[in-house]
Amino acid sequence: MTQKQLSPEIIQKEKDYVLPTYPRLPFVLSRGKGTTLFDTDGNQYLDFGTGISVMALGHSDEEVVQAIQQQVQKLSHVSNLYHTAPQAELAEKLCQLSFADKVFFSNTGAEAIEASLKFGRKYAREKFGEGKTKLVAFSNGFHGRTFGALSITDREKYQAPFKPLLPGVEILPYNDIAAAQQAIDASTCAVVVEVVQGEGGVHLADPQFLKALRTYCTLHDALLIVDEIQTGLGRTGKLWAYQHYDIQPDMMTLAKALGGGLPIGATLVTDAVAETISAGDHGSTFGGGPVAASAALVVLERTQSPSMLNRITELGTYLCHELKALDLPQVVEIRSLGLMVGIEINTAAEPIYKRAPEYGILLLTAGPNVIRLMPPLTVTKAEIDQFIEAFNNLLGEQIL
Ligand code: PLP
Repeated sequence: MTQKQLSPEIIQKEKDYVLPTYPRLPFVLSRGKGTTLFDTDGNQYLDFGTGISVMALGHSDEEVVQAIQQQVQKLSHVSNLYHTAPQAELAEKLCQLSFADKVFFSNTGAEAIEASLKFGRKYAREKFGEGKTKLVAFSNGFHGRTFGALSITDREKYQAPFKPLLPGVEILPYNDIAAAQQAIDASTCAVVVEVVQGEGGVHLADPQFLKALRTYCTLHDALLIVDEIQTGLGRTGKLWAYQHYDIQPDMMTLAKALGGGLPIGATLVTDAVAETISAGDHGSTFGGGPVAASAALVVLERTQSPSMLNRITELGTYLCHELKALDLPQVVEIRSLGLMVGIEINTAAEPIYKRAPEYGILLLTAGPNVIRLMPPLTVTKAEIDQFIEAFNNLLGEQIL
């Protein structure tokens, strides 16, 4: 019996009613379990993109689903005018498991960044008076699409239609210690850096570079903000990517994987920053609501476990080894940390991303010629083998 394809109707409806800000792939996803996604037309895919580094525990994880169901039956929203237990517990655990002393909750990565920029400005003003407002960020970085986050995101294409942006931003070359030494000065309030640049092509920070940023920030009383929105929660084989390096930040931004598929953002700060923030300085109606916080408690508990982190490192190494063993002629370089993998190729990545679903795999790009892989942290060796076979066929087809 041939099944009626549901996708054309849904895709048409989206075209008619949803603003066209996303160039979407031409199928409709309806269900997921573990690493596998299913579409409305009966096809299935191995998800090596995880909704852009969100579904760390895979799709429909039983514990996450149960936490959400149990919480939503009791209380789904009250706003931040009231105390709720899941938020308090999540904040405590995040602080216990990181450098931080206090947390501000929001809903997305961009919001977590906005909060960090505002806290940076407030801290500098309270402690050092007017004029210490410069924000430093890096070329190829990505921090989000709201005005503050966009202003520190070095992409002319994303910025141009919306100018003027936030004043007082200086963008420096990534991994350039001399440029950082010159630019970070007494007028700098905060430096925002990704430990591994995700959208920018999976570029890892040099250890000496991050150490230098820490040194110059300390020297000039500027705050070091690590954006771990993509790298956080075990993705790189440590709970936080900064833990691969010998540094402690002053603030850290989280989102994506934290909510197990529900939207939640978090800005983690030290006591020194927290002391300058008072009631009314910032806010969010939904931030850290009980349902998202309950899901986050499960994600945090599972991803902080040493056996999970070791597994991520082992499987990341295995994935890269198998990719290298394919010896594909298009591959220029493979960069990785844990289960965050960038495959730089000598051709455009977008056509490969678009054809991948025909081979039963979903992947991501990171810039014009990097394929980015971020499978669930729960991916199995057998699924990696299956992916490698499909990827080999996909890239084999590209050179025919
Ligand atoms: N920061 C980083 C490092 C990101 O990768 C992203 C999203 O890709 C963001 C910030 C923005 O997050 P959101 O899309 O949730 O606003």
